[in-house]
Order: sequence, then C-alpha cells, then structure tokens
Amino acid sequence: MFAEWIQARRGYLSGWKWSHVRRHGVRVFRYHGVVTEKRDAVLDRNQLPLQIFRAQMDFLRRFRVLGVGELIEGLAAGKLPSRPSAMVTFDDGFHNNVLAAEVMASRRIPWSLYVPPGEVGPSRAMWSVEMSLLILLGRAEKIEALGRTWSLATRAEREKSFRELRARLKAVPALERVATVEGLRRQFPAGESARLLGEHPQLRMLTWEELTQLANAGVEIGSHGLHHEIHHAQQTADLRVRELVASRAELERRLGRRCRAFAYPNGNFVDTSPGEVEGAGYDVAFTTVSGALEDRLGADRFLLPRLSASGSLHGFVRTFWWDGDRPARPSQAPQPRPSEA
Ligand SMILES: [Zn+2]
Repeated sequence: MFAEWIQARRGYLSGWKWSHVRRHGVRVFRYHGVVTEKRDAVLDRNQLPLQIFRAQMDFLRRFRVLGVGELIEGLAAGKLPSRPSAMVTFDDGFHNNVLAAEVMASRRIPWSLYVPPGEVGPSRAMWSVEMSLLILLGRAEKIEALGRTWSLATRAEREKSFRELRARLKAVPALERVATVEGLRRQFPAGESARLLGEHPQLRMLTWEELTQLANAGVEIGSHGLHHEIHHAQQTADLRVRELVASRAELERRLGRRCRAFAYPNGNFVDTSPGEVEGAGYDVAFTTVSGALEDRLGADRFLLPRLSASGSLHGFVRTFWWDGDRPARPSQAPQPRPSEA
C-alpha cells in the first residue's frame, strides 16, 4: 500500500508544472481488458495487469464516479459535477472483463461496457484480434492480402506485417475488410483461429450469459457497433447507420433493457456521425478525443471525450489530475491510434 501511495504522489507531483490549469470536470477513462499476466506484448497490447487496475480503482474510489444514467441526467440539466470526478468505460467486450467486474463490484464503482453484439460468443474473437492471432502466431510462412505478399518468416516480420495490414484494413470499406479477413483465414490450416484463441483465452469475447449477468448486476451495456466497423470516409452512411441501429436492437433484445450509450469503434467519427448516432436512438456517444468533460466546453453529447487509462498507477494519477484539463476539441476527428484494438 505504501508503494502505491508513493506512486500516486509521484503522479500528482509530476504534473505540477501545469498547476495554472483548472482541475475539474468528469474524466471518462477508457479500458479494454485486464489480465492476471501479460503474455505477449503485441497480442496483449490493450490488456492491463489486474494488479495495476485494482490500484487505479482504489485511487478512483475517493472521488465521485458517475454511471451513464447520471451522466445523461447531468448533461440534460446542464449540471455536470464541477469537482474532479470520473467515469470508467471498457471497450470491445473481452471475456476477461469479468475480472474487472469483481474489482468494481467490491468497490461499488459504476462502469459501462461497449460491445459489438455481432462478435459476441465464447468461440469468437473480434476481427482485429483474430487477425493479430493469425499473423503473429499462425502457422504460415507468408500470406497474400490487399494485392501483395506479406512475410511471416520471423517474429519481427510478423509484427511489421500485422501493423501495416491492420492500419490498411482500418481504412477500407467494411465489405473489403470482411473479404480480406476471410481470404487471410483460408491461408492458414483449418481451425487455426480457434486453436490460437484456445491458447490465448484472455482474448476471447464475453458470452451472452455473462453479459446478461453483468447487466443484471448494474453494469451499463452500450453498443460498439454491430461488428466494430469504424466510422471513416470510405464507409457508406448506410453501413454506419445499419451498425448503429442493428447493434442497439440486438443488445436491447438480448438484455431486455434500453441501450443508451455508444462508443465509436477505434474512436473515429465523420461529420455526419453524431446525427446518425442520435437518429439511431442513443442518448450519448464517446470518442477517444482526449480531455475532461465540462459544461464550459458546451459538451456535444454525441462526441464526448475520453482519456486512455495509463498502464501504471503513476501515469493514471497524472492523467486524472492533469491531462484531463487540456481542452477537448470534439470537432477534430482523431487519427486511428496504434494502441487501439
Ligand atoms: Zn474497440
């Protein structure tokens, strides 16, 4: 405990040079998953060690932590807390979120989870995760995709191929992405994705039973698109709207409660996204634009800022106290971030 106290003090003091900055507003933190042990730095890039997550939540429990319902009411009334406060969100719906749920329940901290319902299931991995498993660990020497050959001969070449292919697949229309991933799958032995997911169960998705249990325990389940399709300029409006409407309908049908919140897959949005999200019946939507949520910014409830949760307690405390006050500019579309799923 003493070591954690020292780390928290260091995090606070390391931002002291910005002490002229006002420290208030809601800090919405974004996580993906937690693991008892990180096994592969690239594969587990979005997974936070459970011990660090616990320490971060122990720090946060001293402040007011809002649920989605309180946020919606606060935005509607123009009354968000002015004192430093927080929200906790998880994207993607990894099965390992049940570990996070225990941490949150024992500390009575509300949180919300954003899942792509088209990807839910015990034998599933999200397309980006399946691709990372195949390219980093799959049994093949090379693959063909997007009109060229990619070498998988060494680990370094695998990582390079994975990074380049992922970046390109995040920018093509959904149909081309689906066809490319299917084409990739065929170049590995049959059942390779399932075999690799079996070896890395930390990356499988939550089941509907688990999601139902979480929802019944008070966790707010929001949408992350139907298949985690990214809102970008190459994507048709039809596709974006279908992902918004179908995911919300499926979550409501399965979980028997209103789906009020949306988190943009990969954090990206286009000019028409906020209107499309509102038209699909959501109350709020989260981006990955960095900043604290404050009334004085005239918060657009369909372009709410979030902060990436640091991989250390020290970094988390620093983000909580200091980074959240750099003004958010919701009109700026964020670039796809390499740390994203
Ligand atoms: Zn995501």
